[in-house]
Amino acid sequence: MGADLGDRCVICGGEKAGIPIKEDIIFRTYRKIIHASRILVGKGELNKRKYRLVVCRDDYPKYKKMRSSYVRKEFTYVALGVVFTVLMLAVSSSKLLALAYGLVLTFFLYLLAQISYMPALYIPEEPRPGSGAAAQPSGVPKRNGRKRRKGPLANGRRK
Ligand SMILES: [Zn+2]
Repeated sequence: MGADLGDRCVICGGEKAGIPIKEDIIFRTYRKIIHASRILVGKGELNKRKYRLVVCRDDYPKYKKMRSSYVRKEFTYVALGVVFTVLMLAVSSSKLLALAYGLVLTFFLYLLAQISYMPALYIPEEPRPGSGAAAQPSGVPKRNGRKRRKGPLANGRRK
């Protein structure tokens, strides 16, 4: 359904097949902002969606780098905001004001991180056992039934 949408790479802009991006809330917000600003400057409405946004195979390594730098930046900025808020709360006599300042600053830092926004892709991230960043409930990873065969069978038959 609607499969006649072409693929367009978000990195190189080329019309290439690739892995589709996740259109999350930040993506949709961006679209709305672009849309609104186009109307504001009299450029008319944003064109109807003609493409499915993807990351092409060639740009995948580049994408990976950009994505991880974005994720890291977002995390760092928000962490800074939280640390600042805690410090403000500790030293300020007006806790409410300190909290308000802290939250505003944290939100501002979060927005700042969105400048380098890079959407996620519709593929599961490689499972990293032992990195306890996010505990995943009820997720016993399925094992692939097929195992890669090593050894002489891979060479096939000789004629
Ligand atoms: Zn590309």
